[in-house]
Formats: sequence, structure tokens, C-alpha cells
Amino acid sequence: MSPAIDILEDGHVHTRLCNHAVGEMEEYVEQAVQRGLTTIVFLEHLETAISYQPRSWLDDDDFAYYFEEGNRLKHRYQGMIRILLGVETGFNPEAAPLIRERIARYPVERVGLSCHFYRHGDTHLNLLSRRRQSLDQLAAIGPETVIADYLAALIEGVQSIDCDVVCHLDAVLRHLPGVRFSAAHRRQVEELLDSMQARKVALEINTSGFDYRGTVFPADWIIAEALRRGIILRAGSDAHQPSEVGRYFEQLPRYLAERTA
Ligand SMILES: [Zn+2]
Ligand SMILES: [Zn+2]
Repeated sequence: MSPAIDILEDGHVHTRLCNHAVGEMEEYVEQAVQRGLTTIVFLEHLETAISYQPRSWLDDDDFAYYFEEGNRLKHRYQGMIRILLGVETGFNPEAAPLIRERIARYPVERVGLSCHFYRHGDTHLNLLSRRRQSLDQLAAIGPETVIADYLAALIEGVQSIDCDVVCHLDAVLRHLPGVRFSAAHRRQVEELLDSMQARKVALEINTSGFDYRGTVFPADWIIAEALRRGIILRAGSDAHQPSEVGRYFEQLPRYLAERTA
């Protein structure tokens, strides 16, 4: 039997507000309606105390617009589709109290947890970027260390931030060729899943992985370990343009059934 996953809900889309996606909020909603989805969840990038240029997240003004426009759309599309306004908060181990404070300040309906940045001296490196400069510096620090720190941050994040879902769990260093999780990393992933289970935090099945590596994020064994713990799966396209809303969702039931049998 196929593990339960609601493919009529896209739990992770962005908009132009983050500076690295394109399209207005309404275009994403339109696309979701056309695809026959029942729910679309905006999960806009929220980063705290990160030093990185150009900014790839929303500032306070962007968030003010986001919730205003989101509420307008909720009314406009009432009865057609459910719209939730959430955030994808990056976890910065140096700013947990501030992250909690910022999330509490906004009328957030879903909190996705991720970790996109890695502290390096006075600035941060982007763990998910394909930019040569970031990749070279991360390679010099060493993938072993970087992945261990990344997973430690997610564990701490799940334990200290009230979140609903962990996003693209193993997307770290996705553009660095030949990166593999070691046995120690695997133990960290299991610890992370234990914490998610204890706090009823869902695992995102992120279909942007199909475009990056031909399979979803995260890897099969992580999904299997999550299911063993009774962790809920949530589908997310991580759309950065309207046409990506719900991407590959039709493949998910079969994909999961084949891999978790
Ligand atoms: Zn993004
Ligand atoms: Zn992300």
C-alpha cells in the first residue's frame, strides 16, 4: 500500500518576494487552481541574522505586503482553493530566540524549517547555491564537517522552534558532486527523525529534487525511517515560478509505494 500523502496540497511555494523566485502570489494561486489543488501553502523565506548578499529572503516590508496580499487572495479565492500563509524559516543556531520572536510576530499558518546558510567568519555561505564561490569555500571546509553541522542545526532547530515540517532534509550541498552522507551523518538523521516524531513534525517530500537529481528530497532510506516512526509526509514543490506549482505530484503515490514497499 502506498504511504499516505495528500497530493492535492502543495505545501511549499515561493514568489518574487524572496528575490530569487518569479511571479506574483496570485499567479501561483491561479496555477494551483488550474492544477485542481485543494490547498496551496506559501512558505516564504525568513532568515534571521544572516550576512549574505544578495538577500534571498523577505524583509519586514515584504512580509507586511505578503500577509496583506495573502489575505486579499484568501477572500478572492474563497470556495475555490484554501490558501495558507507560512514561512520557511532558516535555522540559525546563533539566533534561535530572535527567530521565535519573529515567527510569533506574524500571523503564520505553517512553519517549515530548513537551514540554508553556514557561518564562515563574518559572513555566511549558501549551502544550497550552485554559485562557484560558495561551493569552493564549502568544499575547502570539507563536506563531512559541513553536513554534520547542517544536521546538528536542524536537530537543534526542531527542538527549539515550534515548526510543522522539515523541508528538503538532505538537499545540503546538492550542487557539490559526489557528496555522500557518512554513517555518522546517518545517525544524526535518525536523531533528527526521533525529534520530529516526538514533536509531531512532518517530513516534506520535496519534488524539486526530480529536477535536481531525478529523485525527491529526501533519499528513500530517510523516507522509510520517517514512515517507520509514523511521521507524516507532506508534498511540496518548492516552486520558484508559477509553472512549478504541484510539479511531479502525480508521480508521488507510485514513487512512494515502489520505494517503501
Ligand atoms: Zn528559495
Ligand atoms: Zn529551502
